[in-house]
Amino acid sequence: MANMIELKDVKKVYRSGGEDTFALAGVDVVIKEAEFVAIMGPSGSGKSTMMHIMGLLDTPTSGTYLLDGTDVSKIGKRRQAYIRNQEIGFVFQQFNLLARTSVLDNLLLPTIYGPVKNPVERAKQLIETIGLTDKIKNKSNQLSGGQIQRVAIARALIMDPKIIMADEPTGNLDTKTSHEIMGLFRKINEEGATIVLITHEREIAEFADRIIRIRDGQIVVTDTGERDRHAEETH
Ligand code: ADP
Ligand code: MG
Repeated sequence: MANMIELKDVKKVYRSGGEDTFALAGVDVVIKEAEFVAIMGPSGSGKSTMMHIMGLLDTPTSGTYLLDGTDVSKIGKRRQAYIRNQEIGFVFQQFNLLARTSVLDNLLLPTIYGPVKNPVERAKQLIETIGLTDKIKNKSNQLSGGQIQRVAIARALIMDPKIIMADEPTGNLDTKTSHEIMGLFRKINEEGATIVLITHEREIAEFADRIIRIRDGQIVVTDTGERDRHAEETH
């Protein structure tokens, strides 16, 4: 399979009050097309920063980013925004849905930024896939946490993206619901999407094909011991 995501010596430095924080201290990562990867690491290790860069929501201080073969570090913001909208779907831990807006209208939201064939039909299909046809008119405040995340995943799929990026998507959910959500990600992956998912829970990471570990803004090459694993889980 081709490389979908390739970061080469990517650094992200935050400057505040004369002090530099290396959120990413030179990261090299390759994620293949149709791979399902989990990113693990302690709080503050740079997971979200890395995902924001991969998702074209943020730019690196230095380094190169090849997305689906295109050097996106060399293209303008408008082109980046276009690629982001067409190729990447996002699921976050919170604030995924518009309040007081129906399931159907939440799904249709991304389609105002780009063309989708038969958007309402496509949205209804996805709502069926996530098993919420009977809640299609419900407002987001009339849904459970697990149902909200299912809608967020369906919305991330509406533009038929090649990549899904999820930052702690099961963070607020009970174990059974978390596993249902991860089952849904697996299914999406089996249909060909590349998935990059941040979690601090080993049990969740094990749904992925591969785990990338990050610590202090650097990829940890060697596998960590049981003690480190425990430390991660308690973060
Ligand atoms: P994680 O998602 O692994 O918890 P983050 O990527 O959010 O970690 O943060 C990595 C480091 O970068 C942390 O030290 C954090 O405080 C710092 N950081 C993140 N975003 C900013 C920002 N906008 N300004 C300054 N420092 C930031
Ligand atoms: Mg984070």
